[in-house]
Amino acid sequence: MTQAIASAVVHDLIGVGFGPSNLALAIALREHAQTHGELDVLFLDKQADYRWHGNTLVAQSELQISFLKDLVTLRNPTSPYSFVNYLKTHGRLVDFINLGTFYPCRMEFNDYLRWVSGHFQAQSRYGEEVLAIEPVLHKQQVQALRVISRDSHGEQSVRTTRSVVVSAGGTPRIPEPFKALKDDGRVFHHSRYLERMAAQPSISGQSLRVAIIGSGQSAAEAFIDLNDCFPSVQVDWILRGSALKPADDSPFVNEVFSPEFTDLIYQQNSAERERLINEYQSTNYSVVDLDLIERIYGIFYRQKVSGIPRHAFRSLTTVERAISHKGSIELALRSTATGEPSEHHYDVVILATGYERQMHRQLLAPLAEYLGDYQVDRDYRLATDERCKAGIYMQGFCQASHGLSDTLLSILPIRADEIAASLYAHGKQQVPVRSIHDGLLATAS
Ligand SMILES: Cc1cc2nc3c(=O)[nH]c(=O)nc-3n(C[C@H](O)[C@H](O)[C@H](O)COP(=O)(O)OP(=O)(O)OC[C@H]3O[C@@H](n4cnc5c(N)ncnc54)[C@H](O)[C@@H]3O)c2cc1C
Repeated sequence: MTQAIASAVVHDLIGVGFGPSNLALAIALREHAQTHGELDVLFLDKQADYRWHGNTLVAQSELQISFLKDLVTLRNPTSPYSFVNYLKTHGRLVDFINLGTFYPCRMEFNDYLRWVSGHFQAQSRYGEEVLAIEPVLHKQQVQALRVISRDSHGEQSVRTTRSVVVSAGGTPRIPEPFKALKDDGRVFHHSRYLERMAAQPSISGQSLRVAIIGSGQSAAEAFIDLNDCFPSVQVDWILRGSALKPADDSPFVNEVFSPEFTDLIYQQNSAERERLINEYQSTNYSVVDLDLIERIYGIFYRQKVSGIPRHAFRSLTTVERAISHKGSIELALRSTATGEPSEHHYDVVILATGYERQMHRQLLAPLAEYLGDYQVDRDYRLATDERCKAGIYMQGFCQASHGLSDTLLSILPIRADEIAASLYAHGKQQVPVRSIHDGLLATAS
């Protein structure tokens, strides 16, 4: 086993992940530092360099939220880290205005996020996956946290911090019939779309039978990309529902993504929170932008006109089994309308089946006895029992208590500001570095 590298530094905060949530927090902390003093902050990300859902950045994909909901504008429209300042710096402000849109393409938003991350090189490390967060105990109290990470060479690092913020995003959801095939390169989650498609023979014009499983925005974007960029691909689109449903982004409904709505949700009891979150599922889950639905309908309609049935739309269909053969992946399907079974063979199966939000439980497992049932305070700090003096914050794992905006870009600057304020407030009651070092020595002995 490789020897772990341990640092004697005690950080004020270590962030797990350096995606939009922690980028927004890094900015908020930098801006707080001007009036409140600087914190020692470090962000770790497992990617080799920053990319925003990099394997999904197909040419046609657009941001599904106004660019004004960037990393800063809701909190501080004069911040140098705004999307508008990014455009100005890159000489595209006038051209972007001429586009007349609130929705830049996702490739451009990715470039904006990379540009911001470049301003925080001293506070970030890429290529380091956090494996676990452990307690540093002294006199039966959790005085600090030990963050264990591993780089791409397998080398482990151990760092100590007074607080962590877990912002590790979602984990691809693999439906049961496909779990045994997760190492088969022909079956992959949409989160790996570009890298896996680049390895397929369709790149050189050979015919390819592709199944897309799912009915949300990712499935729709994959379908359009396969239709437009791979003329030799024939798609079977398999979905449980009867139709593609439009994402509701109408203005009154959009108010559920306002910062004030977070307060409203948080103030409810758990049954009412759940009811409200379910009521607005159609803003984000298993839905597709209306303009994309219309394009897709047009593609299927033109097939009818031409009489050449290139793609198939298999609604009201479930996948019962997936079997790997040498020359194909066999899917056993069943119509939920008639009960009729059928078997089909594919070269590639794309799972556009969404994401789970469980990573926090895995990373924080060594602290489980202090955490109870992962209840989160309004400031995104995990409620711990009184023995835990260290701060544990989460972003993207609080939908049940803070509402649907928690996993999106909607309120990033406001949330970052709330967490920054909480970190400074708790910093006033901080455990001295000396006690933490005593704890580290006690653990080592
Ligand atoms: C394809 C796609 C498109 C989307 N489009 C939109 C949109 O248009 N508008 C919108 O509001 N939302 C959108 N979302 C939702 C998305 O969750 C947010 O936009 C945003 O990415 C959330 O930021 P985050 O930092 O919380 O999580 P992520 O962006 O998921 O970032 C998490 C980071 O943590 C890193 N990481 C994970 N585990 C570890 C670990 N153990 N150790 C170290 N690093 C780790 C990852 O490498 C990643 O960089 C989209 C999501 C997807 C999948």
